[in-house]
Amino acid sequence: MTEGSAARRIAREGAGKSGKAVAKSAESRSARKGTAKKGTARSGISTKSAATKSAARKSTSKKPARKGAARAKSAAPAHAALPPAPPALAYERLQAAHPDAHCELDFQSPFQLLVATILSAQCTDVRVNMVTPALFVAYPDANALAAAEQEDVEKLIHSTGFFRSKAKSLIGMATGLVERHGGQVPAEMDALVQLPGVGRKTANVILGNAFGKNEGVVVDTHVQRVTGRLGLSHGSDPVKIERELMDEFPRDEWTMLSHLMIFHGRRVCIARKPRCAVCTLNDICPSAPIFLGQA
Ligand code: SF4
Repeated sequence: MTEGSAARRIAREGAGKSGKAVAKSAESRSARKGTAKKGTARSGISTKSAATKSAARKSTSKKPARKGAARAKSAAPAHAALPPAPPALAYERLQAAHPDAHCELDFQSPFQLLVATILSAQCTDVRVNMVTPALFVAYPDANALAAAEQEDVEKLIHSTGFFRSKAKSLIGMATGLVERHGGQVPAEMDALVQLPGVGRKTANVILGNAFGKNEGVVVDTHVQRVTGRLGLSHGSDPVKIERELMDEFPRDEWTMLSHLMIFHGRRVCIARKPRCAVCTLNDICPSAPIFLGQA
């Protein structure tokens, strides 16, 4: 399974109910940025243009505005006035709320983490952790996995979903390690992303957690959703979101930032029903008033 599929899934989620609230928030901010800060709007051009056209249509409409519409319109600026959460304060609060935040995939070597991360695409870490012990016994290193029969690997990883493409990626990745890196996992971004089934997100997981290198920020569906709701990222392109986060947070926080956002996204800032009332960030999060029904 490639990360492209995960990105498409994220995009679909963004079209869901909670995604609409975030989109509304992001749109408001983009519009503000477009008028207040020259050259800083990342996605403001098309949004602003659409908003302008929409406003023009509304102003020329002869129909009297409905009561509800007037209420909705007057509520919008109240939320639009809310700034993004201050990155340093958000990080500090999340660290206090999730002091045990860590990579939830079980691994004992860079190779095992690489295998587990490939398997984690569109699958829970809990499920991956149920599958990997037997897989690592059968294929303890890159040489063994490179020589594996695809059908045998498929059987072992079946329950993680997309088992055919994942088995193909695993064997291809292991073959790449054997042929180009002496069977070892490279500790460089450029080399990692050349391996089958390995994109920037997976490479960031490996570099940050197996090698202790802060090369980037892992942007998965939780990171995208939580940072979007906090006003710290915009849009649905993981690469752009990663760049925004790299600009907003110091380099030595990048790996832990992902863990904190993922922990928070799984336990508090849940996709369908965020628990804003008990969230440590509810006084600085621009989305809290919307979810709490105050906007
Ligand atoms: S206040 Fe609500 S939307 Fe904001 S981060 Fe917390 S749970 Fe998520």
